[in-house]
Amino acid sequence: MQGVAVLPHDFLAEPYKIKMVEPIRMTSRAERERLIKEAGYNMFFLRAEDIYIDLLTDSGTSAMSQEQWSALMLGDEAYAGSRSFYRLRDTVESITGYPYVLPAHQGRAAEKIVMDMLVKDGAVIPGNMHFDTTRAHMQLRGGKPLDLIIAEGLQPQDRRPFKGNIDLEKLENVLAQHGRGKIPFVLLTITCNNNGGQPASLANIRAAGAIARRHGIPLFFDIARFAENCYFIHAREEGCEQKSIREIAREIFSCGDGCMMSSKKDGLVNMGGFMAFNDRSLFEQACQLSIINEGFPTYGGMAGRDMEALARGLEEVLELPYLQFRVGQVAYLAERLRAAGVPIVEPAGGHAVYIDGRRFLPHIPQEQFPAQVISIALYIEGGIRTLELGSIVFAEKDKETGEYVYPELDLLRLAIPRRVYTNSHMDYVAAHVIDLYQRRHTLKGLKIVYQPPVARHFTCRLEPL
Ligand SMILES: *Cc1c(COP(=O)(O)O)cnc(C)c1O
Repeated sequence: MQGVAVLPHDFLAEPYKIKMVEPIRMTSRAERERLIKEAGYNMFFLRAEDIYIDLLTDSGTSAMSQEQWSALMLGDEAYAGSRSFYRLRDTVESITGYPYVLPAHQGRAAEKIVMDMLVKDGAVIPGNMHFDTTRAHMQLRGGKPLDLIIAEGLQPQDRRPFKGNIDLEKLENVLAQHGRGKIPFVLLTITCNNNGGQPASLANIRAAGAIARRHGIPLFFDIARFAENCYFIHAREEGCEQKSIREIAREIFSCGDGCMMSSKKDGLVNMGGFMAFNDRSLFEQACQLSIINEGFPTYGGMAGRDMEALARGLEEVLELPYLQFRVGQVAYLAERLRAAGVPIVEPAGGHAVYIDGRRFLPHIPQEQFPAQVISIALYIEGGIRTLELGSIVFAEKDKETGEYVYPELDLLRLAIPRRVYTNSHMDYVAAHVIDLYQRRHTLKGLKIVYQPPVARHFTCRLEPL
């Protein structure tokens, strides 16, 4: 075909056009060197306006649609019985099949209520891999979170399609060992955030549900990114390509008894969350806790207009063209990096690409934070903000020796906000990562010069060596 650029068969352009724009500002390299130094080489201390492409997180950073922005004007701000609440409730029920819906101001507020009701001292809570705040809420109440993810889920180069699956044999053993007396519920996180947004298969979810049911233990879902998980099932699981995203969602939820959601991800809104249950008495108990912690059960900490926008976001997130592009955009960035030999976690998950810091910078030891070195260089070179999830975040101090024990994986996360950046932004990011990779030998390590006693990544300060 002369003179015609042939697109690859799976090429997808953005399934939306732009009606309103938010300018982003490119700073000079000299400015960025100064700004990152002033920020103590910690991405959390940068001002957002000094960033060109912000890949810190996909949480609360989505762009809303014209329908969602219009819906804000329809918000019913009644304290009790808001029309917007009923709209949200009906939408959640139509997607999950769970009739008892309770809003919350964000995901961790829903977690707090669920854990307050169900987790007692000495409880054991198995799941594929619990999210950080979820785990913390279990531990605060004396519960023991158990991650039973399949072994391959933790191997960054294993390319199998469902690395968010729970190990069914281990689940069976744990339930048999502790039983209903100790296990208040099983929790599946879909997609599995903590290993990179990897999905669980429908077959795995069904089997986990059957095991839980046999032991008389409820199964709950942590569904921050459930639509992305449904899309992976549609695209990858045998026998599921004919099912619609909605049908897949319904089948997943029918395997369990309730869910908690941070709608800052697949709700396509900037704040909010909810719980939904099959069981009326559990819901009534949750309402009591909501009244003292979050608000009356028909708003639960959310504004009426925000419930209105969330109800629409939950519909839009299930549309196939949206999901094809969304998951495709993450895969697009991953593929560009992979083709240039950049070591990444494979396959790409639903919301982010993860660079393997130790393989990217083998000459920098873990106690000099290789992933953070890449993060800082990406900011200085391209104004790109990313998040280290490795030796700074996950190192643990050995109680006896006082020495740090470093995690197996030292990762840098490039989280892609939903509907915010175009593929041309992805090309820009890829070009900078690849350029850095080609001159990786010139990069040097870091040391920590200040750190707080807990959650050090948020406020620590570093210096180049
Ligand atoms: C973000 C998230 C949460 C917590 O939700 P917030 O809205 O940030 O409080 C819980 N679970 C998963 C899987 C998440 O991604």
